[in-house]
Amino acid sequence: MFRPLWIEINLGALGDNFRTIKRSVGKKVKIIATVKQSAYGHGLVPVAKELKNLGVDFFGVGSLEEGISLRKAGIKSPILLLSAALAQYARYFVKYRLTPTVINDELANALNQAAKRASAKLPVHLKIDTGMGRLGYYYEDAYRFVESLRQLKNISLEGIFTHLPVADTNTSFTNYQIEIFDDFISNLEKEGVHFKYRHCANSAGLAIYPKAHFNMVRPGLILYGIKPAPNIKMNLKPILALKSKVIFVKKIKAGMGVSYGRTYIARKPTNIATVSVGYADGYPWALSGLAQVIIKNSFFKLAGRVCMDHVMVDLGDREDIAIGDEVMLIGKKGKLQISVEDLAAWAKTIPYEIVSRLSLKIPRIYRK
Ligand SMILES: *Cc1c(COP(=O)(O)O)cnc(C)c1O
Repeated sequence: MFRPLWIEINLGALGDNFRTIKRSVGKKVKIIATVKQSAYGHGLVPVAKELKNLGVDFFGVGSLEEGISLRKAGIKSPILLLSAALAQYARYFVKYRLTPTVINDELANALNQAAKRASAKLPVHLKIDTGMGRLGYYYEDAYRFVESLRQLKNISLEGIFTHLPVADTNTSFTNYQIEIFDDFISNLEKEGVHFKYRHCANSAGLAIYPKAHFNMVRPGLILYGIKPAPNIKMNLKPILALKSKVIFVKKIKAGMGVSYGRTYIARKPTNIATVSVGYADGYPWALSGLAQVIIKNSFFKLAGRVCMDHVMVDLGDREDIAIGDEVMLIGKKGKLQISVEDLAAWAKTIPYEIVSRLSLKIPRIYRK
């Protein structure tokens, strides 16, 4: 690692968050740890292995590749693909014992065929739409689909789920979704269709709506100690720090500009540090001129635009900062903290985008 840019992951804090979630849902509710997109940028296999040791029941991944990676890393827990695969890849679910999300006949039939060829019975989770408008038939149209699924002998309806688009912002809509999901399940129960797992709660759903827990929950963001919205009242610990170093310092004269577009012009003689991080690393260009960083127990602001692999920092008249000094881009140092939520606010995006776009080429260092 020649370039001074790295991520530190605190696995102890991941454990604390997991236990906080576990306490909040109680013993009877199973947990699908959502580890899609490389565990929201925290690193798929190391995070999954730690969660496995902590006693997670299920993993939720974003692609077949991620499911296969977990199997190849020796993880034997059930793994649900939270998205829908194309029917042509059905055999991989059987081969790697991955649990598919079924949303239409084409995929269901292909899975049934693939399982039949292997003389297996493949557990699947049915996804229905109650208002997200993304994957699965709208619940009113889904009864018919359940009927056709029941005809397929080599798949078993192990789970049913839906997704909440406004759990953080709209109580009446979310309550309505929970109610129709519950009704849908009860109506099928009456017809003898029983689902072992019933789940709808993402992080916000889990934190705000106990009724949304059913008997399984799917937290993602809160596992990583990040809040999907400020109104989440859970005691979470951030687990990720993004760090770099000063690679150059100089004093510029009043009137001199810094970075592309010359959006920053020094008003007086100013010390400027160049730091090794940029938008190609997933440090958003939208942070230009806005984000703060921590160097030697002080906050400093970016000077001008974020470049592809550099940023410049306005040190004002501070003379004590030199090449090699550590720069905290995300994380906590003493009393000072820059959170993922802070970066998201400055860049006018959501915390999910900040962490999931941190380049996978940045080395991750895991600490207990
Ligand atoms: C990503 C995802 C989750 C987790 O969402 P968070 O808000 O991060 O908790 C849950 N369910 C599904 C289907 C998802 O795609």
